[in-house]
Amino acid sequence: MTEGRTALFGGTFNPIHYGHLRAAEEVREVLGLRRVVFVPSCFPPLKSEDLAEAAHRLEMTRMAVEGNPFFEVSDMECRRGGRSYTVDTLEELKRASPSSEPLFILGVDAFLDMPNWHRPERLMELCDFVVVNRPPHRIEELSRSPYLREAGRSGLMHLSSGRWVLGLNCTPIAISASDIRWRLRNNLSIRYLLPESVESYIISNRLYIPKTPTGDR
Ligand code: ATP
Repeated sequence: MTEGRTALFGGTFNPIHYGHLRAAEEVREVLGLRRVVFVPSCFPPLKSEDLAEAAHRLEMTRMAVEGNPFFEVSDMECRRGGRSYTVDTLEELKRASPSSEPLFILGVDAFLDMPNWHRPERLMELCDFVVVNRPPHRIEELSRSPYLREAGRSGLMHLSSGRWVLGLNCTPIAISASDIRWRLRNNLSIRYLLPESVESYIISNRLYIPKTPTGDR
């Protein structure tokens, strides 16, 4: 059912960290996927706080996946520009490759938020979903989703569109991008929370550090 398929992992990746990377690696391995494609958003519709430029987030994501032959990065949302709606990305993929059957990976917090996304009903016709626990959110919280008819639990659930949602328990890694940004603002270490190459990139480009009143950083 999933063997050899491609999964998209959409996100702000502001910045990418080991929580994202480890979840993608475990999903890839457990489901026998051919590849995982990370798709950094251009302007995420629901998040604007401390947002690094799309080109920086794209570059950090590229650096983070380097060396993993199963991981790729797509610049399609950054190239498209404007607000990034997942439904548009999947429609674009379907047009480019009508026989493609992508999976979409997301954390349980993101799946529960889907009623606030753009055209969620259409999105649920376009792909199957792999939902992972994202501390402090447990996979059991899927039962709160209005889209799932069956009680949420780890395992396969059906959507009324005919597509499915697979809940997968990964090693819980309580790292969040917002905490990393908070640490940077407060001059605290971010070492071991994300790949060294990404840490160096953030520091040399002075990302996530508030501008001084003079405009200098
Ligand atoms: P922020 O902390 O700024 O809210 P975020 O990490 O939630 O950022 P995204 O970069 O958009 O935001 O997350 C991309 C996807 O990765 C989402 O589906 C989110 O649920 C999931 N995710 C984020 N952090 C983790 C984690 N530590 N473990 C598993 N999944 C995660």
